[in-house]
Amino acid sequence: MTKARNQRDREVVVKALRPFGTSIFTEMTVLANRHGAVNLSQGFPDFDGPVEIRRGAAAAIVEGPNQYAPSHGVPEIRQAIARKMKRFYGLEVDPDQEITVTSGATEAMCATLLGILETGDEIILLEPWYDAYPPVATMARARIRYVSMKPPDFVLPREELSRAFGPRTKAVVVNNPQNPCGKVYTREELEFLISLCLEHNAFLIADEVYEHMVYDGRSHVSILTLPGSRDCAVSISSTAKTFSMTGWKIGYAVASPKLSRAVRMTHQFITFCGQSPLQKAMALAMDFPDRYYEELLADYTRRRDFLCEALEDLGCRVFAPQGAYYVLIDIRSLGWDDDAAFCRMLPEKAGVAAIPCSYFWKDRSQGRELVRFCFCKKDETLEEGIRRLRRWRS
Ligand code: PMP
Ligand code: GLN
Repeated sequence: MTKARNQRDREVVVKALRPFGTSIFTEMTVLANRHGAVNLSQGFPDFDGPVEIRRGAAAAIVEGPNQYAPSHGVPEIRQAIARKMKRFYGLEVDPDQEITVTSGATEAMCATLLGILETGDEIILLEPWYDAYPPVATMARARIRYVSMKPPDFVLPREELSRAFGPRTKAVVVNNPQNPCGKVYTREELEFLISLCLEHNAFLIADEVYEHMVYDGRSHVSILTLPGSRDCAVSISSTAKTFSMTGWKIGYAVASPKLSRAVRMTHQFITFCGQSPLQKAMALAMDFPDRYYEELLADYTRRRDFLCEALEDLGCRVFAPQGAYYVLIDIRSLGWDDDAAFCRMLPEKAGVAAIPCSYFWKDRSQGRELVRFCFCKKDETLEEGIRRLRRWRS
């Protein structure tokens, strides 16, 4: 047998990525579909974003642009992002040198980490993380150090975090507001993170895709508004959540020209550019009046409150989120202690799908008691989900 034949007979996926398997979001959505379950697992709305954006995209597809966008994004969307950064955060951002439009926040994270991490550099990830961070850091051949935040409050463990920094630390990723736990970082926590990064000459990558879903009168602190951040921070966001268009995959990274060069270097060879007509249409959305953002927040606040109360009525211990669109429950309050077993059972037995949270910790014995339900769904979907859970419980 030839060497080439032998190689093809073996597992082809590179060794470093094998442990990651199939994303838990894919697994749970497939299971939900198989059982016709109400899908409160993978976080995507079951309604589409504003029709004006969709009409804008249809017009842009008919009239153009339909060829490659400039690698870092069509001018209209970069200018609109710059206006948005000014409107919400008072920041002056140069659309030509400081904004890179990517295929979703996922690609922005990937381009950033691949652009700044050398083989063997260390990156600190806060648990529970968003699922793409460890595999992307692994693709960058970095060494990951994990720092765990604990329920119920998921407070930043400052001492442990300080100890995790060392001579090889190149970056820290912070997800604010945080998926899956709904934590919104305080200004002091973010300032502490920046001070550690400045002290250790490291970069802070802030994934802020849920920036417009912050509840109870709290406000989102964009990382770039904090002193010292311009030297060390990258802010990543996405239009997927804010405009309920997860399928368009329009995200972006905002950073100093120097850091943006690193993001752009890799982005140009990963996808080169995103979809020009969709970017042009999404530029319209960025300029929506404040009323759009207020209604988005009011709608999600109502859905959050409905889901939290209904789950509590079912006897669940509920962790109400401060931000993002997910609610965690402690399944021990339902007599279970294994999140994965619970979530594999639920679609078939109850007709509802959810996400097991131990998948967001390196040591999977952590988070085993936590299950995530999303509330980016129509009211009737959430009501049907609750009806089914009630029937199953009784
Ligand atoms: N970051 C976080 C924290 C997320 O929850 C998600 C999922 N929507 C993403 C990034 C991915 O965003 P996008 O779809 O724009 O790639
Ligand atoms: N962000 C979504 C979630 O947390 C999933 C996105 C994806 O499937 N990659 O559920």
